[in-house]
Amino acid sequence: LLSEKTIEIIKSTVPVLEQYGEQITKHFYKTMLSNHPELLNIFNHTNQKQGRQQKALAAGVYAAAKHIDQLEVILPVVTQIAHKHRSIGIKPEHYPIVGKYLLMAIKDVLGDAATDEIIEAWKEAYGVLADVFIQVEAQLYKEAEEAEGGWKDFRKFVVKKKVKESDVITSFYLVPEDGNAIAEFSPGQYVSIKVKIPGEPYTHIRQYSMSDAPGKEYYRISVKREAATEQKPAGIVSNYLHDHIQEGDILELSVPAGDFTLTMTDDIPVVLISGGVGITPMLSMLNTLAERQPKRKVTFIHAAINGNVHAFHKHVSQLAKENENISYYVCYQSPSEEDRQKQHFVKEGFIDLEWIQSVVQDKNAQFYFCGPIPFMKTVYHALKEWGVPEERIHYEFFGPAGDLTK
Ligand code: FAD
Repeated sequence: LLSEKTIEIIKSTVPVLEQYGEQITKHFYKTMLSNHPELLNIFNHTNQKQGRQQKALAAGVYAAAKHIDQLEVILPVVTQIAHKHRSIGIKPEHYPIVGKYLLMAIKDVLGDAATDEIIEAWKEAYGVLADVFIQVEAQLYKEAEEAEGGWKDFRKFVVKKKVKESDVITSFYLVPEDGNAIAEFSPGQYVSIKVKIPGEPYTHIRQYSMSDAPGKEYYRISVKREAATEQKPAGIVSNYLHDHIQEGDILELSVPAGDFTLTMTDDIPVVLISGGVGITPMLSMLNTLAERQPKRKVTFIHAAINGNVHAFHKHVSQLAKENENISYYVCYQSPSEEDRQKQHFVKEGFIDLEWIQSVVQDKNAQFYFCGPIPFMKTVYHALKEWGVPEERIHYEFFGPAGDLTK
């Protein structure tokens, strides 16, 4: 595919990318989005403002350069991104636009150091990488459309029921407006929701994990309200959903996506660990296990700030009571007096390895976790320290992928 010479040149840029990667991707997004504002209908503006998207792309470009001669190494990352791309509607025609501004950004940031030879090599490499993405995404588009109950792009769903699950989390039960079947999904997957908020110049797309098992006549998502604080403005879509979307209203969804999924082809014990609203994919997994693999051992661990913001407690307690193979443990960061009286939690403070070991006992399990990034880092490092092999550790970021290893 790529000549030896091109590979050599790309590899020679790895140290530069390590140093200037984020500067390049920042510049890239800025110039691309100012020249193609229509892409603001697809890209998440907040991820841009926070720099998370730029960081994720820089890490991706760096990994691609490093492994340019063995792209199979980055295939899991490509697959993960391709799922997101398919769910938000990235199409082949977007790739030349991205390529153009990425090359321009490399040139602008590196200046004379980006020789014609380097730019030419990157142009060639980008073409190969773009083709990989386009092919993987074409397959995902095909599967989404051809699956039973599947569809193309976005489909209208009616909010059948809106249920408050805690002070901050509300569930939305969504049924298709056309009354036809809906696609199956794997527990752990998410949907992208596209909203046109009055007064907002662009549409906003956000991902929400399914919070119930597949095989129902509805999809359920559970959304945390991202309230404004002194440091940050209120989250755009979550507040819109909480405050303005009522039962009977319409939301547009793309077919469920994502590679963070529960393996159900064996009986290996499962440990599901969540923090805050990270409970949603874990709950989908738990409900599915309770329905379809009731004999499998499941440990469900949830961390919340306190009982007021703790969603689904009654439901999970009930499942644990009904099924002896399900154990349930709660950790509250700062429990209230009422929490103490109710004794819903068994650990106070933060999750740590010692406590995980005390409730899980056997490290030979499949570990799935999701939550705020500092929480995920703690869990990841605790599992690594315990000696859980990498292939048994699975996690989902509620935003652009980050790096838990550092
Ligand atoms: P945004 O407007 O996108 O803001 C996000 C956060 O950034 C807010 O806290 C906001 O205060 C802060 N912020 C905004 N602007 C700035 C700024 N300039 N500087 C600093 N901070 C700023 N969420 C759920 O509730 N439930 C789920 O099940 C769920 N599943 C997800 C699954 C996946 C795969 C992914 C990627 C995300 C998931 N999310 C989930 C997160 C969800 O997609 C949204 O990111 C979330 O609802 C916030 O969106 P928003 O529009 O309300 O906030």
